[in-house]
Amino acid sequence: MNKHLLFVANWKMNMVFNDAVSFVRSHKQGLETRTSQASCSVVICPSLHSIYAVKQELKNTSVHVGAQNCSEHPSGNFTGDVSATSVSQAGASYIIIGHSERRQHHHETDQAIAAKCQQVLQNNLTPIVCIGETLQERAAGRTLDILEQQLAPVLEVIKQNAPESENRLVFAYEPVWSIGTGQIPTTADINTVFTFLVEHIGTVQPRERFALLYGGSVGPDTVADLCGPPELDGFLVGGASLDFQTFEKIIDYALSNQL
Ligand code: PEP
Repeated sequence: MNKHLLFVANWKMNMVFNDAVSFVRSHKQGLETRTSQASCSVVICPSLHSIYAVKQELKNTSVHVGAQNCSEHPSGNFTGDVSATSVSQAGASYIIIGHSERRQHHHETDQAIAAKCQQVLQNNLTPIVCIGETLQERAAGRTLDILEQQLAPVLEVIKQNAPESENRLVFAYEPVWSIGTGQIPTTADINTVFTFLVEHIGTVQPRERFALLYGGSVGPDTVADLCGPPELDGFLVGGASLDFQTFEKIIDYALSNQL
């Protein structure tokens, strides 16, 4: 049986409102052609303020919309922050949490990310939990220790807030040194990490209830080299998701080669 593959487009702060809407307006047919297959889901994650309009464009399709972040608080006096409830009402069904750019530039701690995960689950949304080591940590042979440390509070939250929806939780392994650099890990490296994740996350969720993505310099030139790991369920794509022809090449390669 074909695996169900998941492709997440993380647009970061790259598409202004008009560009985000015109992208989905122009390409919803192309996206729908792929997501109407039983084996493929796509999540488009624009900037927070574009979620509602992007969702409106996609409302008669099976393409999902996600947020790139949410507050760790349910509501209150947190100027500039946006709650999980609010992004849910705007049309998001997924929320990326723990992206390395937020850990780095906004000093998000593992505990804050776990609190965000709680907000996501309590709103019946699907978290896309990003984890990954820096180059220094990798060089020091600490990759699995770092992943374990990043995951610990999130897994505790998942244990206590067993998700009600049937959707799979999503974990994205994104080595920080690979994001936007063109460098990718070997299949053996990814296999080592995924074997660890399957076992570790498996203590709180059965394997069929979570998806494992890889993210970091996924593109038409690297996708063939990244399709090897048997536990891989899809890709989190940054830069290469900003151009539809590039994004569709990644999706089509993975679908036709079944990773
Ligand atoms: C990311 O930042 O989540 C990412 C995967 O970026 P890129 O594909 O551009 O490396």
